[in-house]
Amino acid sequence: MNPFKGVNFRHQDREFAELRRQLRQNRGSARRTLSPNQIRMAIRTGEMPPNAEVLIGTREDGTPFTIEDLTGFAQAQQRLAKQFGSAKGVPMDQLIASSRAIDVERANVEIRSARLYKIHGSTLTFSVTASGKYQAQFHQVKVRLEDWWRHLTDAGNVNRAMTQTLAGPVSFDCDCGRHQFWYRYVATVGGFAIQPYEKDFPKVRNPQLRGCCCKHVLKVFRTLKSPTVKTQLTQQMIRQAEQAGFAGDTRHQFMTRQDHQQLSRARVGELNQEKIRAELARQVNLALRRHVNKPANRNKINRARTKMTQQLTAQQKAHIKQELAFAQRYNLPANTVYQKFADELGMSAEAIQQQL
Ligand SMILES: [Zn+2]
Repeated sequence: MNPFKGVNFRHQDREFAELRRQLRQNRGSARRTLSPNQIRMAIRTGEMPPNAEVLIGTREDGTPFTIEDLTGFAQAQQRLAKQFGSAKGVPMDQLIASSRAIDVERANVEIRSARLYKIHGSTLTFSVTASGKYQAQFHQVKVRLEDWWRHLTDAGNVNRAMTQTLAGPVSFDCDCGRHQFWYRYVATVGGFAIQPYEKDFPKVRNPQLRGCCCKHVLKVFRTLKSPTVKTQLTQQMIRQAEQAGFAGDTRHQFMTRQDHQQLSRARVGELNQEKIRAELARQVNLALRRHVNKPANRNKINRARTKMTQQLTAQQKAHIKQELAFAQRYNLPANTVYQKFADELGMSAEAIQQQL
């Protein structure tokens, strides 16, 4: 059965907006949160903020946070920045690959369906069925396709433009608790959040900053891989491109009844994280091989290889040993001898040392 049968999406959209307003308000008055500035100050001074327990609360077991905890938080944050880079958005496959396996499994098992119901510029809004474990019946997921505008003005093939847009970076948000308390901070620091941003570190729930997508977002990503949804988006892209003065001047475009009929036929299979990870690894390998095979790089690599593998003759070995003995007698560091021969013979000092 179609889980969206009888849903009035305009009505639901207003409910989502009201819920988000309430969540923002609660969040605004929430205490016991930890700002990046507090983390920085504490690490620099080596002292926890005064009244730390009142200010930031305690660990789950009731013991207070320590400077080591804060240092760990800062390291997790740096790893994250490195992992996702600094550009706006991250490609969907990379986000799926970086997600926790448990979230992928929940997306496959607990979430029945996700339906695109609104487009506003480059931002797609989805209604996603909830797992039924909590109060909510539906969750709202927003995905912004960061390359949409660039491809909207592509003179070439619109299908290809859409394929490239979907393979390009995205930003997203979900209104569920998992996203709010585990991943919104990750998305904010990683540069793939849609407002509201989260400035408070998830020090209790996700202090390692692992994972990035809740099951609803993952379901939406899987849905975006369906050819039916891609076709629909291509039509929307054409529609937007035909509007006069489109840039920055789009209204909230709700899907029509016809659009929904088409979208309801989308076949959405399971997400296969292993397959996506393998494909990403293959692409990295390919890029690496291309890099290695460039003539300039090939020469560089060959030179480095020669340096490491060139064999010393017996005569050279005897010569080096002689100089080493001399150096030892006068308390000179052996390294200077290795380095001298390395320069002379075009080898690495380590390779020489190993062969003696
Ligand atoms: Zn969610």
